[in-house]
Amino acid sequence: MVNMRYPLWMEINRDRLRSNLTQLQSMGDESGSRIMAVVKADAYGHGIDTVVSLSEAGLRNFGVASVSEGEQLRKRGVKGDIYLLGGFFSDETESILRYCLTPVISSMEELAQLNRYSTELQNCTCFHLKIDTGMGRMGILSNDTQEFLARAKKLYPSLSLSGVMTHFSCAECYPDHTKKQYNAFVRLFPGTTDKGGIIRHCCNSAGFLLFPEMRLDMARIGIALYGVSPTGDPTLTRGCGLRPVMSLKARVKFVKNLPECFPLGYGATYVTSCPSRIAVLPVGYSQGIFRSLSNRMDVLIRGRRARVVGAISMDQMMIDVTGIPGVEKSDEVLLIGESGNDEITVEELASLSGTIPHEILCSLVRVKNKVFI
Ligand SMILES: *Cc1c(COP(=O)(O)O)cnc(C)c1O
Repeated sequence: MVNMRYPLWMEINRDRLRSNLTQLQSMGDESGSRIMAVVKADAYGHGIDTVVSLSEAGLRNFGVASVSEGEQLRKRGVKGDIYLLGGFFSDETESILRYCLTPVISSMEELAQLNRYSTELQNCTCFHLKIDTGMGRMGILSNDTQEFLARAKKLYPSLSLSGVMTHFSCAECYPDHTKKQYNAFVRLFPGTTDKGGIIRHCCNSAGFLLFPEMRLDMARIGIALYGVSPTGDPTLTRGCGLRPVMSLKARVKFVKNLPECFPLGYGATYVTSCPSRIAVLPVGYSQGIFRSLSNRMDVLIRGRRARVVGAISMDQMMIDVTGIPGVEKSDEVLLIGESGNDEITVEELASLSGTIPHEILCSLVRVKNKVFI
């Protein structure tokens, strides 16, 4: 299906998104764990309509990084709990209450702010507490937890603790460190779900998929929901029935023949070794395709792989279509996605550019045209 409207566009497969959600929910059900969809960074580059679609599918737990992200979701009609995973500034406190976000607290100062406004507005007063068991980012240290909670209860009795969480730093690579973090966390909160309604959560996608015994009451799932593997190995997610939700497509803007020994692109990093047919695509690093993928990544065109040749520029890149007959202007090109028996995965691009799949997805937040299919 050629979409003639756009030079570059992202296709979001709604059925796959919903089927990934159902799949993750049924895996969670086996462990008594519910799913929080982590939708920060514009739903990992997929766009806010993706969150709306999850909300329409009945999901009621979302995780965002900032107050403004939470506000945006409420304005789009997203109901349920929206967890503010990344803390907040004091001048954002009022918005937290106005938009009924659930803050994840990392300090007494944040609680004091929350208390000030909640007594004023008589609004949502639930919070989750973040424990740092070995990430060194947000959260209070395990050793300080009991004292913190005792003080919080005494100073701010109207604020109610509704959950506790920790965050794994290496669930995809170091099981020992992950087990240590998990053990430190459950040692602090050995209770089960009915312990005064306080829920416990620690898993991201990697934790959820690799350590089912650690799922607890809720799991914060980001990348796996979009059908991409947290480890960089797609067999992990595919093996669980999770499929990529997004494809990235462009149209050939220009085709030309070049003689042998002709230099291509800025820095002349590629020189033709034979008479070549080159196609130009209207996409470059300003749309989130890393320049480090120059001369490395492939795209799919007419069901075949073509290599990107020369340096990727700001809004354009070249592919070598010498061996692919019939390529012409306006042909559809797949930068990510499946065609015939072949597929370019987010994981492949991550590996080629020396990063993690998360970064590839988030860089595509810059692709403006997002089409639901
Ligand atoms: C981003 C994030 C997640 C989700 O991580 P994935 O690897 O994408 O599943 C979970 N928890 C917290 C606190 C996060 O910031």
